[in-house]
Amino acid sequence: MNTIELINRLLAIIELDIIPKTRDCITRGNGIFGAAILKKSDLSLIIAEVNNEVDNPIWHGEVNVIKKLWETTDRSNVPDPKDCIFLSTHEPCSLCLSAITWSGYDNFYYLFSYEDSRDRFNMPYDIQILKEVFGNGEDNRPLYNRKNEFWNSYNIQEMIKDLDVSDHDRQTLLNRMNDIIDQYTILSDTYEADTSKPVVYKF
Ligand SMILES: [Zn+2]
Repeated sequence: MNTIELINRLLAIIELDIIPKTRDCITRGNGIFGAAILKKSDLSLIIAEVNNEVDNPIWHGEVNVIKKLWETTDRSNVPDPKDCIFLSTHEPCSLCLSAITWSGYDNFYYLFSYEDSRDRFNMPYDIQILKEVFGNGEDNRPLYNRKNEFWNSYNIQEMIKDLDVSDHDRQTLLNRMNDIIDQYTILSDTYEADTSKPVVYKF
């Protein structure tokens, strides 16, 4: 698999399949985190979904995409998770890390890190929960094991930075990524400005 092709495909799915659904879901008061599942073999999209915490606080984008896949696909046709790529717009929280693990995916890719969620999206809870509930992130303990016997995780921003390509090719990818980041800034501002949204986080 060509890494540049993969990155371009993941960015395209975020832009064309997840962001339009996100625009709709935030008008109902849902959060802006989304997810998708695609085939490793040809990078075709199987399903994309977004957050639906208005209906249930645990329907995060990642959990919701797994839920919808199992609801809308005949069980015998649910693709083997080992044949799939799992894409998350934001680094998955502890709930979603577990959902990805229990569902059998051996990878996930994400665009925004926990620090981005905290600093760009006013969502400090991912780090907070991993520290407070699990005692991670202290005394040199990582927040979670980014590579482990269940899966490897990949930060798309770091992948672009680490690519062995010309400055021009890297900049082309960065321009595309930054355009998506700009779109998320607008989505986040819209979400934050909606004072009628339900208060999901009570702490
Ligand atoms: Zn989550």
